[in-house]
Amino acid sequence: MRMLAAASALALVLAGCGGEPAHGNNEARGGMSAENGHHGPSLGPADAHAAAHAPANAHAAAPTAHGAGHWAYADQSAWTTVAGVCGQGQEQSPVNLSSAAPMAEVPDLAPHYLPAAGTFVNNGHTLQFTPENTAATLMIGNQAYGFAQFHFHAPAEHTLDRRAYPAELHFVHRNGQGQLAVIGVFLEEGAENPALGALLAGEPTGQGNELATHITADLAALLPPDRTYFAYAGSLTTPPCSEGVRWNVLRTPITASPAQIARLREVLGASSRHVQPLNQRTVLLGA
Ligand SMILES: [Zn+2]
Repeated sequence: MRMLAAASALALVLAGCGGEPAHGNNEARGGMSAENGHHGPSLGPADAHAAAHAPANAHAAAPTAHGAGHWAYADQSAWTTVAGVCGQGQEQSPVNLSSAAPMAEVPDLAPHYLPAAGTFVNNGHTLQFTPENTAATLMIGNQAYGFAQFHFHAPAEHTLDRRAYPAELHFVHRNGQGQLAVIGVFLEEGAENPALGALLAGEPTGQGNELATHITADLAALLPPDRTYFAYAGSLTTPPCSEGVRWNVLRTPITASPAQIARLREVLGASSRHVQPLNQRTVLLGA
């Protein structure tokens, strides 16, 4: 039921914005809007619950004439006026990560990624790939999540020791209960990345669903071999900033050539939320 409500709210938002490119949040798009209504106490990353604040009422609750869909990276202080918890949440993302975080016992992160056919769209906030089916899965310990979409941010949203890599890739997954798990992958300048090159070759020529391209993405080739990761409980990094997202940020970046990074930056523009306070949360580092 919540999924339908969220989907219709998104449709309203899109309709209310006069057919401009998609305005939903990057993390939640691609059939990812459903979130359960549970709102519990602070939870560790091992059993983070899905977002407490579903975007179902986003449009109705928006105080502005333009509705909840309008937001911009250039004016993040205004996100607090968009429906959601962007201004009030205590477990928001992104955060700064410390390479000095103590190594801890964390569940195995096991992506089972096969090349996937799907659509590649510039939705006005990011470049996003959404598969036509969800054959790709992610196991975190014994928890199974289906791959929903990936998208980019430039510069990186999470910082590592207060330093931001030039870009960050988010692989978004959802389990049967509607709970989200995201793998974050940093991009650093280095060797050209063939998988990224293939994506950029299929890049949409402009914003909006009507200019989406159909491509096959080699998901596994966009992951580094080392799966050591930072685990913490966070949120969507775009309005409505819903919490209960299980974050898994890989410590090791993948490389992309300077030209590839430059192209991403050119297409994406500034597309990163500011780092949020960690508050009472613990970030675990493990493999
Ligand atoms: Zn993202």
